[in-house]
Amino acid sequence: MSQQVINFGGGPAKLPEEVLLEVQQQLVHYADTGISVMELSHRSADYDKINNGAQRMLRELLNIPDNYKVLFLQGGGTGLFAAVALNLLSRTGTADYLVTGTWSSKAAAEAAKYGKVNLVLPKTNKFLEIPNSSTWNLDPNASYVYYCANETINGVEFHDIPDTKGVPLVCDMSSNFLSRPVDVSKLEKKKSYEGHIRKPCSQHQARIYVTSRVFEWIKRNGGVLQMEKNAIEKSNTIYSIIESSGGFYSCPVKKDSRSRMNVPFRIGGENGNEALEKEFLNGAQKLGMLQLKGHSFVIGHLLDQLSHFTAKYFFYFCEGGVCILHCVMQKSCLKYIYICYAGFI
Ligand code: PMP
Repeated sequence: MSQQVINFGGGPAKLPEEVLLEVQQQLVHYADTGISVMELSHRSADYDKINNGAQRMLRELLNIPDNYKVLFLQGGGTGLFAAVALNLLSRTGTADYLVTGTWSSKAAAEAAKYGKVNLVLPKTNKFLEIPNSSTWNLDPNASYVYYCANETINGVEFHDIPDTKGVPLVCDMSSNFLSRPVDVSKLEKKKSYEGHIRKPCSQHQARIYVTSRVFEWIKRNGGVLQMEKNAIEKSNTIYSIIESSGGFYSCPVKKDSRSRMNVPFRIGGENGNEALEKEFLNGAQKLGMLQLKGHSFVIGHLLDQLSHFTAKYFFYFCEGGVCILHCVMQKSCLKYIYICYAGFI
């Protein structure tokens, strides 16, 4: 790892170093075209190759059935909140929303501008779990059921695809996409989308290019099944530290709804101790761990031996990345543990 900092940003998030280096090269001269990938016409055969390659790779990674279209769209996740409702809500005029955190709340609020939104789960502002599906208030007349597979801020993740009893299903996978296999055939496919969405236009192609490089990287590194294993291993490492910290760290989310992608936790008790949390974040910042606050935590490997280390720094080289571990010792007990995983996802 050549970088001295590690980016924990929830999105835009870390890219694999290999990909960054490849993109850096192609940014000046793409393949044998003599021009930058950013200068390629979005109508050129060279760009078609990039776009088709990205589509093919995604189909392969997720085993997407042939009767599903893949569309690369602009507008980010937030743009899609309106696009989903505008395209799909008019079928019956009502839609079911499983609100499990900040992002699905925003999606439901956006959809309410265009039709009726039925809240499938009891209204709350504390997002700590996914209630058992036997308690869900699903409307058989809904145009679709919407859920967010991983709530990036709240750390609440679905570990199964909801059974909607035949009602079309729409899923926001912004922050756990390609971190686990998904049975795409359970998700909505809607021909009417095609009529509403135009082909990519010019600002778009460099992003698709970078995305295609990340898809290739995932394939080279074992595909979605390996990404899932990594996510389980990394998140379990952090959750077990939290659980065995005697209450020093606490994660509010119920165990069966915990995210493998982002682990929210407080330091110094259930409601947190702001002074300790500030100290933790300052220490992390000094170690080059950036953007930890607000979102948390990507994670390391192999920490069961932790208690044997008294050194301030410990570098552990592992496949696909480097973990840097920093233990601050205070009065002979472990105070903070900083763990980074420099690989992607
Ligand atoms: N959904 C989820 C789960 C997200 O994490 C985010 C942002 N990270 C969004 C939607 C919104 O995406 P954007 O910032 O691209 O609008």
